[in-house]
Amino acid sequence: MQKYEQKYEYEGKSKTVRGGTDEGTVVISFKDTATAFNGEKKEELSGKGILNAAISNHIFEYLAKNGIKTHMISVIDQTSILAKKAEIIPVEVIIRNIGAGGFSKKYGVEEGFALKNIVIEFCLKSDSLGDPMMNESQITALGIALPDELSLMVKTALKINDLLRSLFEKASIKLVDFKLEFGRCEGEIILCDEISPDSCRLWDSHTDKKLDKDVFRRGLGDVLSGYAEVLERLKRA
Ligand code: C5P
Repeated sequence: MQKYEQKYEYEGKSKTVRGGTDEGTVVISFKDTATAFNGEKKEELSGKGILNAAISNHIFEYLAKNGIKTHMISVIDQTSILAKKAEIIPVEVIIRNIGAGGFSKKYGVEEGFALKNIVIEFCLKSDSLGDPMMNESQITALGIALPDELSLMVKTALKINDLLRSLFEKASIKLVDFKLEFGRCEGEIILCDEISPDSCRLWDSHTDKKLDKDVFRRGLGDVLSGYAEVLERLKRA
């Protein structure tokens, strides 16, 4: 590990990012910290970093094999990866297959609502503004992303949704919704951040049991047993 301990760059709520050995690389480490409601609820869940790193790495490798360009270079250890350094586009891209969470609250529909089409939403990545929802014209008007970049992000997010739905289906898990982040790197738009039960809603296909961060947000019981189940099922799928 010592050789990677270079200039400290950024400490996020659930990950840290440091400079990698080579120019243009970063070391991203998954932390045990769980946060919700813009950091208002915070707990250390021992083992979460290892589980999320394993799940996210499994998914990023699967996506890369299926033609998605990602930041992932290699796995360093149980909680850290070497990734391409990218300029993160400060927009969260949310895809919803089933109505739940913020969508259910905002539009007054029950969780589990069968959406008639896939929903795509964008939120500005800004803790101080509370991650406000934005539409495409607002994003381009503010120069946050160019129209071509945004349409590529949408196209890629929908392709990722198709790939993830079929992966999770094999694991008997419903992919309810999830959040993606993209970055600019060497003239390309690449998938960054993580895909894990922290950033997805994942329900057991048969019972609708929650296997994701809602267990933490809503205080529904043992958070990590669901995460461990997701990892086990993905490995078997
Ligand atoms: O809260 P909401 O229903 O809008 O979240 C939609 C999806 O995006 C959920 O899977 C949630 O975990 C994820 N999300 C996230 N980070 C955020 C906001 C939402 O990972 N800042």
